[in-house]
Amino acid sequence: MSKPEKSVQADSERRRVLGLLLAGGATATACAAQNGKRAESGDEDLRNSLLWAAAWKQTAAEYFALCHQAYNLARLRVDLALDKRAAGDKPLAVITDLDNTAMHARSYWGYLINQGLDFFDDSIWDEWLPKNQITAAPGAKDFFDYCSARNVDVFYVTNRDQGERTYEYAMKQLEFLEFPFADDEHLYVFRDSSDKSPARAEVRSKFQIAVMLGDNLNDYQRDYYVTDIAERLRLMERDRDHFGREFILLPNPTDGHWVRAIFGDSEPQPTRENRHLLKQAATYIAWDGQ
Ligand SMILES: [Mg+2]
Repeated sequence: MSKPEKSVQADSERRRVLGLLLAGGATATACAAQNGKRAESGDEDLRNSLLWAAAWKQTAAEYFALCHQAYNLARLRVDLALDKRAAGDKPLAVITDLDNTAMHARSYWGYLINQGLDFFDDSIWDEWLPKNQITAAPGAKDFFDYCSARNVDVFYVTNRDQGERTYEYAMKQLEFLEFPFADDEHLYVFRDSSDKSPARAEVRSKFQIAVMLGDNLNDYQRDYYVTDIAERLRLMERDRDHFGREFILLPNPTDGHWVRAIFGDSEPQPTRENRHLLKQAATYIAWDGQ
């Protein structure tokens, strides 16, 4: 990068940071942290381990492009399935997960971090979810409408638990986002288990599945529900030819069963021990400096 380019970028970045600080009422210590490699003591909020992943989910054009990429590919799979259809075939269907696949919870993560929290918080999630601050994942609605226009059914399968009204909340979100097939036949909500296999089996008994979408390999096969990191990686390599074909994976750096593989729990508690486990995972492979 040339010097003038650097200087223009640095000025623009300084103005942006200043704007954020003025808008957010951040303290002077935050300015110091921006200028150094390490945050000052007392800047715990600025050292929140969720910041990088959440910033990516909130701002990276690459993140949203990956969603479009997934849905563009899904459309291609549907087109291929439509081309191959023969008389007597079962009708076509698509199965999709909801959270981090068809819809995004960006304001939840923003709120969580503003509360100084660095781990997923289930009680805040349950409070946030009925408020319909959800947004459609880029490309999702266009793809579902594309399916609908071609008589390809879309089935929504989610694992959530917000008590007795869980199903109603999920349905309201489908309606809020104006997704097609927002009806009882097409929405499966599993409250007691993250095992979505029964929904897949039921849909498969009546339909030919053109493609499945999810942000968690458990959305594809239940056998990824293991807590051993190496085993999950081994299973993933076993299925390497399936990705982008039978199953299309969307990115999610904040939550999912990859988290469970590290902590033994999909929603680990914000303890010192768990922060150590996170560091251990982040240094799974690390240069020794020699
Ligand atoms: Mg999901």
